[in-house]
Amino acid sequence: MKTAYYAIGLRCNLRCIFCPCSEEQPDYKYFTLEELKDTIEETLKVKDIDNFLLSGGEPTIQKSFIPIVEYICQEKKRPLSLLTNAIVFSKNKFLERFLSAVGNSKFEMVTAVHNHIPEKHDYLTQTKGSFEKTLTGLKNCVSSGINTSVKYNIVNYNYKDLPEFIDFVYETFPDEVGLILCNIDISGFARKNKDVIPVSFEKSNPYIEKALDKVIKYMNNGWKRNVRIFTTPLCTLDPYYWYFINKSTKDDVAAYRSPDVIEENSKLMFDFPSGTGTPFDECKDCKVIDICPGSWESYAEYYGTGFLRPVN
Ligand code: SF4
Repeated sequence: MKTAYYAIGLRCNLRCIFCPCSEEQPDYKYFTLEELKDTIEETLKVKDIDNFLLSGGEPTIQKSFIPIVEYICQEKKRPLSLLTNAIVFSKNKFLERFLSAVGNSKFEMVTAVHNHIPEKHDYLTQTKGSFEKTLTGLKNCVSSGINTSVKYNIVNYNYKDLPEFIDFVYETFPDEVGLILCNIDISGFARKNKDVIPVSFEKSNPYIEKALDKVIKYMNNGWKRNVRIFTTPLCTLDPYYWYFINKSTKDDVAAYRSPDVIEENSKLMFDFPSGTGTPFDECKDCKVIDICPGSWESYAEYYGTGFLRPVN
């Protein structure tokens, strides 16, 4: 599936300490509605796009958000995905405006919940009360029939809580809500917060495996929740768990645009490198390279490539 990925503005209502944006970026320019419409037209002239994905910063607080959703869904009649912290959806009026902008188009959203303990989530977002607001927003979206997934970004501060988080998700959200466990890009704030954020696969994967054992138990009891692991190399997990690993997405981002202080960097780019994959020497002769999502390149820069164990 070919996706056009636009960060429509970098302003955010949270200050997550592992945000891939640098500290100054939230003050950067955002795209106006006209700029976004032009970007969409330019994208469609060059690429066959199956899906538009809006991100930020926090996309829902940008001025152009509702009109551009309307443009994509009603005028272009394309499916839309949204990466959002869901806080604004805690307000019913906003949710109503949003649903009317989406109309009958296909829509899905992904929201990060960083822990099942509110204080721990709020610590990572650096915003008191954010856990409650995100949860209310998420529940409102789920009740409105929106296709929703919860994402857990695995960092040094929270990896040991993963197995308990699984129970929280199964107890809090209905079966149709997906769950994504995700290793993060070690750049921007993440690199600055060395003690709290980066965690090696060696340390975190035993907890991923314990978490997946719980998921398997739930599955055996009839639950059908879609559970996926992102940006985790196959060779770092026991093959028993490979079923859950999301396959390579390196060809998926066909067009990309994000605001940047350097004008050149804020232009629309095609076939933008995702910063993830299997570009490492160790991967060249690996027998599972075609089905492996690989790793963030920033992870390999930080930890080296000693974690790779090519499959022969
Ligand atoms: S060696 Fe590379 S291709 Fe093979 S499983 Fe590991 S990350 Fe994937």
